[in-house]
Amino acid sequence: MTKIVIVMIMQTFKKLCCSCKEEKEPHNFHNNKKSIDGKQAKCKQCTNEHSSKYRKENREKLQAKRNYNCKKYQAQQLVRTAVKKGRLIKTTCEQCDSLEKTIGHHDDYDKPLDVRWLCCACHGAWHSEHGEARNAR
Ligand SMILES: [Zn+2]
Ligand SMILES: [Zn+2]
Ligand SMILES: [Zn+2]
Repeated sequence: MTKIVIVMIMQTFKKLCCSCKEEKEPHNFHNNKKSIDGKQAKCKQCTNEHSSKYRKENREKLQAKRNYNCKKYQAQQLVRTAVKKGRLIKTTCEQCDSLEKTIGHHDDYDKPLDVRWLCCACHGAWHSEHGEARNAR
């Protein structure tokens, strides 16, 4: 009998979420057998926000790590350093001579300093025609 009463009270009374400090109906909380009232201290929404944020951060970290390990990323870094040190000289676009800012494009990422300077438009066109350059990973 008492058990039923407690359950009924719990279902009627709102619970304060420890994270967003909002009072919400018990169904907004995940069950947690270890806690006194059988519910988690954080509402479902806060739990979700937390885990999706965590997942997003994690994905970005993973992505950065993957980028760091791939040849494409390393080749681009090498080009950047070489330009800074004057070992590579940026030219105008070799296809259309545009004076726009050019991008060091690799035909083959295994040859990191073997780049062609293309403007944004020509560079985009090259990749939409050829896809990814060789040895990007
Ligand atoms: Zn909350
Ligand atoms: Zn390219
Ligand atoms: Zn161009």
